Amino acid sequence: MTKIRTRFAPSPTGRMHVGNLRSALYEFLIAKHAGGEFMLRIEDTDQERFVEGAVDIIYRTMEKTGLIHDEGPDKDGGFGPYVQSERMKTGIYMKYAQELVEKGEAYYCFCDKERLSELKSEVVEGKEITVYDKHCLSLSKEEVDANLAAGKPFVIRQNIPNEGKTTFHDELYGDITVDNAELDDMILIKSDGYPTYNFANVVDDHTMNITHVVRGNEYLSSSPKYQRLYDAFGWESPVYIHLPLITDENHKKLSKRSGHSSFEDLLEQGFLTEAIVNFIALLGWSPEDNTEIFTLDELIANFDYKRISKSPAVFDYTKLKWMNGEYIKAMDDDKFYEMAEPYIKKSLSREMDLKKIASMVKTRIEVFPDICELVDFLEELPTYDTAMYEHKKMKTTKDSSLKVLQELLPKLEAQDDYSNDALYQLLLAYVEEKGCKNGYVMWPVRTAVSGKQMTPAGATEIMELLGKEESLIRIKKGIELLKNA
Ligand code: GLU
Repeated sequence: MTKIRTRFAPSPTGRMHVGNLRSALYEFLIAKHAGGEFMLRIEDTDQERFVEGAVDIIYRTMEKTGLIHDEGPDKDGGFGPYVQSERMKTGIYMKYAQELVEKGEAYYCFCDKERLSELKSEVVEGKEITVYDKHCLSLSKEEVDANLAAGKPFVIRQNIPNEGKTTFHDELYGDITVDNAELDDMILIKSDGYPTYNFANVVDDHTMNITHVVRGNEYLSSSPKYQRLYDAFGWESPVYIHLPLITDENHKKLSKRSGHSSFEDLLEQGFLTEAIVNFIALLGWSPEDNTEIFTLDELIANFDYKRISKSPAVFDYTKLKWMNGEYIKAMDDDKFYEMAEPYIKKSLSREMDLKKIASMVKTRIEVFPDICELVDFLEELPTYDTAMYEHKKMKTTKDSSLKVLQELLPKLEAQDDYSNDALYQLLLAYVEEKGCKNGYVMWPVRTAVSGKQMTPAGATEIMELLGKEESLIRIKKGIELLKNA
């Protein structure tokens, strides 16, 4: 059996789109699951779309996500160069294009812009394409040579007959057959001498011994043309695996407008790399059981590409947040503190035990920025409605709360030890004295010191953090509000 070799072949056009990262991940997993090799190839032949710095983004993302390539521009594996603009300089694409010309499977085309603009166009999948009329296919060899000798600009086109059908096989979609009449004579070599993506991709996948081609299903419609190229060369085509579309919650193709279509967007929104990778793994693939949390190693062990789905994968942001929360909960405390500290500090200017605050919020957040909202009441007592003192289950009313706070105030003023334990004992003693339920006392105290319906900690923990002075200010404020209510 030949070793599985997959490749991630990004075009350096900007941020790392979630769909691209999923292709990279699946390619990595398919190779690693089978003990194969995963290669990185930079597809930069479209000079107009090239974005400065985008290659760095690719490297950074691969490294951060742990999708470590066995071969690539920075790691020679004997199949280089691994950057298409460098491969072009070796003359490889021209050589193969000319081989097709000799076989009658491709031809030189000298039509200028004006002539092309007069050809009729068709709208294919929302894009307007010009259907070339094979005008230059009728040029004699002498005419072609004369044009070339005169330095006339040219492109090389694939020659696809108008009759017959072409079939190719996809692992998930099965056999797909199309009428050749539907396929345009696509350009293989552009007038600037660069190959098109479509051509370079085929030549490279073959010459770099790629066995499995994994990519988004937007390439499905071009695959018959690729198949014809393989057949024309007499090459065995790779195993094709086209991945389902990723949509937003409204079932529209995931786009920049969603605000979370790239890996960088997600990092900026406070998601952990491991959670992002885990989430993306499930955009189109699921294991046999309902397991949802996977480390990268577990994904390698479990990734059976036969279980990739054909139906569109919905990018469920709520689920991603949930998953991130699970990763946060499982985080080591020191690591968590390191990451949480900047967010806590952003919300708090007063001296407080930040480690304690971190451990309070750890199980209550989904993304780090959630911390700010959870702890800002410690910085400043929010304005709140006294209706919050009324709690059915705790059997508290505004009157009962006022009484409790008023009776507790002198005790709290006399208390010097503001540790959680000591304060808890003080409140418990009062509960016993009254012969009431805990909540009857804790609820109004917590409301007064937090001004919030929900807090990441109980009344006495909050008072410990606030300290005596601030706690008393807040209790007094509660009394005043309740008196006027
Ligand atoms: N350069 C193409 C892209 O970035 C690669 C597609 C493929 O994997 O064949 O979309």
